[in-house]
Amino acid sequence: MKLSTSHLLSVASLPVFAFAHADNHHHHRQILAASSSSSKSGALSPSSAPSSSTTLSSFPPSFSLHSQNPTAVPLSSIVVNAPSAPTSIMPTPATAGTKPSGIPNAPGLPDLSTLLPGNYPALDKPPPTDSPQVQQWIQEVQQSGVEIPSFSPNVAGGCPANPAAVADSSRCWWTCGGCSRSSDITTCPQKFTWGLTYDDGPAPYTPDLLNYLDQVNLKSTFFVVGSRAISFPGLLQQEYLKGHQIAVHTWSHPSLTTLSNEEIIAELGWSKKIIKDVLGVVPTMMRPPFGDIDDRVRAICKAMNLIPVLWTRISPTATFDTDDFNIHGGVTSVQQVLYNWENILGNVSTINTGFIVLEHDLFQQSVEVATGYILPDALAHQPQFNIQPVVNCLNLQAGDAYVETNDNSTNPLPLSCTYTYSFLLFVFRFHNLTSQPLQPLQPILPIQHMSLAVAAQERPRIVPFLGLLRTRVSLPSSPPCSAFWRSLSRRCP
Ligand SMILES: [Zn+2]
Repeated sequence: MKLSTSHLLSVASLPVFAFAHADNHHHHRQILAASSSSSKSGALSPSSAPSSSTTLSSFPPSFSLHSQNPTAVPLSSIVVNAPSAPTSIMPTPATAGTKPSGIPNAPGLPDLSTLLPGNYPALDKPPPTDSPQVQQWIQEVQQSGVEIPSFSPNVAGGCPANPAAVADSSRCWWTCGGCSRSSDITTCPQKFTWGLTYDDGPAPYTPDLLNYLDQVNLKSTFFVVGSRAISFPGLLQQEYLKGHQIAVHTWSHPSLTTLSNEEIIAELGWSKKIIKDVLGVVPTMMRPPFGDIDDRVRAICKAMNLIPVLWTRISPTATFDTDDFNIHGGVTSVQQVLYNWENILGNVSTINTGFIVLEHDLFQQSVEVATGYILPDALAHQPQFNIQPVVNCLNLQAGDAYVETNDNSTNPLPLSCTYTYSFLLFVFRFHNLTSQPLQPLQPILPIQHMSLAVAAQERPRIVPFLGLLRTRVSLPSSPPCSAFWRSLSRRCP
């Protein structure tokens, strides 16, 4: 995979932009899943790639950093085919029952002595969909009440290979055009707040990143690849115990829009399962590999109670992607990555929200550029950045990152919204059947997302309310009932 000429053009002509990430992920996937079916590889490519005669003569790009780590690996050593640096000691599994300090109601860690890799799909391979586990998850999705759009999967080859999907704006395909829905997390709300994320681990150099984050007292979100979580379960536990957020990044790192519904369910289901088996908790957030998401993938995520987290994108050519992943493969240089980083910083000051950047902990080079240069530079930034895991940058609690510890009263999860909506539809339909006056139910009709948690709180009022419906007695319209409807009108994330 080459660096596309459109990248060179955008870098040369639009100096304040960090360029879109899509093309480099051809390469990303090839490395991650080189042995998997070629029909699904290379699914993504730039949405617009005008040919250009721009050459490499302008490289290396210039950049200036406010600060760097005194023990940073020299830039001249952060290169393709760099000799492998010694790895830190890989953490062994923690004692069963240990709890993370930052989540008071967390369950204890499971006993990993019973964790058998043979009970999971093969590493970095798409999991089969005919296993009893996947069949169970498929059934759960079908019963979730979430309507999954019926359009067919994309074909490999990205935007140019899928012109109909690109043209169909109702699909809201983020990769080609940057369409996002309100259910996607793409920024942190507060200006100068950075929702720090690393993808594709846990991996051999992740301990170096964790050590540095400890030194400077930072916490991150880790989007973990399920098949690597089972390779390094002690490391995943250490991330979690240290207070970092753990989230889903699929089992084998495919482009989700190219998969069937069943294949997407298998990828997400196995990732949730391995994290639950290693940590005792199931994440509430996920990141689609390559950011490849459309409304079909979104619906399946919702049915599986996962909130999609992308990264900040303020224009087709200003995407907050460092491209750090591609130093390892020789597709880009560390100088280019730091140039991209500097452009991201330039864009940060122009937006009114905080931001989320795409970075990785899979390879030595990405960890070296993060710990040696990007993070020290960010810590020296003025005005100061507030650097947090995504869950915290959204003003949620650390425990809201997991189903078991989520505060349902303040953070209703995607699926609970649907259940309640289904419930209210049921109430509405039932009410119509009873021919009772419609007036008291009208306020619920425009509301698309509601919280089961709120409904649970209101259970003492809902139960007699349903009783009233069942006996065809007129609905209560007293002030407590009005307050009840108002309380149901809060929107889910
Ligand atoms: Zn990834």
